[in-house]
Amino acid sequence: MIDKIKNIEKRLIDTAKKCGRDHDSVKLVAVSKKMSQERVRVAIESGAKILGENYIQEAREKIEALKEYDVSWHFIGHLQSNKAKYAVKIFDMIHTVDSVKLAKEIDKQAKKIDKIQEILIQINISEEESKSGVSADKTIQIIKEISRFDNIRIKGLMGMPPYYDNPEMAKPYFVRMKEIQGMIEAEKIEGVLMDELSMGMTGDFEVAIQEGSTLVRIGTAIFGARS
Ligand SMILES: *Cc1c(COP(=O)(O)O)cnc(C)c1O
Repeated sequence: MIDKIKNIEKRLIDTAKKCGRDHDSVKLVAVSKKMSQERVRVAIESGAKILGENYIQEAREKIEALKEYDVSWHFIGHLQSNKAKYAVKIFDMIHTVDSVKLAKEIDKQAKKIDKIQEILIQINISEEESKSGVSADKTIQIIKEISRFDNIRIKGLMGMPPYYDNPEMAKPYFVRMKEIQGMIEAEKIEGVLMDELSMGMTGDFEVAIQEGSTLVRIGTAIFGARS
């Protein structure tokens, strides 16, 4: 696994350099959903600094078992409001906030433990009805509402293009994410940061970096196929 992580990091750095970006401006989120504690331990020992998890119960067990390590845990799955209390306790960042209702619950739970929870707003960039995320035209309104919660800090946006065999096909979606980020920055909403763009996965992360990604979420290229 160490070779795989090194290889991804090299591709990440090479791509950043090629498009004139500082390689520190892109971070690798190793997506460890469905991987055993032992495999995740190996990933951490091999240099993974940020782990991405999709399922709350699975993540709770893993994070508890691996608490000796100084790594960050990011939630990248779909979050139901009734699970927000667990997410807030264990995750440094939640990438998938897509409603004021969910944000309100996160804020309430974060307040209880005296935490400022960092979040990203998930955009439904493909505008497919079956997909999670805020539609692009409602994003500013929703961010304005969420920005009023004291125990939440909006750090940026997350998005997922449809799957294509050819990663170049995903490019217009990444470009659109960057445009939406610019639009929100221009609004200068108090307390809202647009530092992070969580986009790009195993198949398309290099294109995502070219278009401004700061957090690439990579599972398969590190851990192999999930069963
Ligand atoms: C599983 C998952 C990933 C990782 O996908 P790979 O193609 O295995 O790299 C990234 N982001 C999200 C939201 C995921 O659910």
